[in-house]
Amino acid sequence: MVTDNSPAELAMDVEALLLINQGAEARVFESSFVGRRSIIKERFSKKYRHPSLDSKLTLKRLNAEARCMTKARKLGVRTPLLYSVDPLLHTLTLEYVDGVSVKDIFLQFGANGIFQERLDDISSQIGDAIAKLHDGGLVHGDLTTSNMLMEKGTNQLVLIDFGLSFTSTLPEDKAVDLYVLERALLSMHSSCGNVMDRILAAYRKSSKQWSSTWNKLAQVRQRGRKRTMIG
Ligand code: AMP
Repeated sequence: MVTDNSPAELAMDVEALLLINQGAEARVFESSFVGRRSIIKERFSKKYRHPSLDSKLTLKRLNAEARCMTKARKLGVRTPLLYSVDPLLHTLTLEYVDGVSVKDIFLQFGANGIFQERLDDISSQIGDAIAKLHDGGLVHGDLTTSNMLMEKGTNQLVLIDFGLSFTSTLPEDKAVDLYVLERALLSMHSSCGNVMDRILAAYRKSSKQWSSTWNKLAQVRQRGRKRTMIG
């Protein structure tokens, strides 16, 4: 019988895998790893690429994601623990973080007991975490509120999805990282008020390279505005 199961599903106990997210680049499953609740992230191949080139590129990305996530942890930013990397199945096995996405929390602002104080705490944790990444020469590459979880119990911010992350010390790259977040907040969470200002205030407090990033951010915003005007 021909099935369209992914390699990860075929190689592992299918019963134990629960698909929780299907993206353009990867599938995310919930599973267990030596008795611990875990996440399996499988990067899949691009059918239009030559198979051996595809495998090389997918593996390169997988390793880069694992390295960046580990580097972020070393810089003092909470990320899921990396349990294993499988270069044949193109999977990462990570600690499952029991939490709620910042996206869901921000969308509930004003209802369900989500008050200004909580918003301020989350914003300041976000600014502090990004400053730590940037000062350590790491750019997240996809800073959206979906890629930030608030861990239940500790109320600690956990950054996830380092699939587009890279190392850089350029103020331009850091400014673009912040700009992506600013745009995401404006489009998704306009009812939360000036969250970005709070994030930047916390970033400024934590970062030793604040002024170069801030100056670049002004330029990146200007470019963004011009692009919007031209269409
Ligand atoms: P990603 O492709 O890494 O952005 O993951 C897609 C979705 O899977 C996220 O938006 C989360 O809902 C969930 N997820 C990813 N990693 C974890 C994790 N370590 N713990 C809990 N949920 C996760």
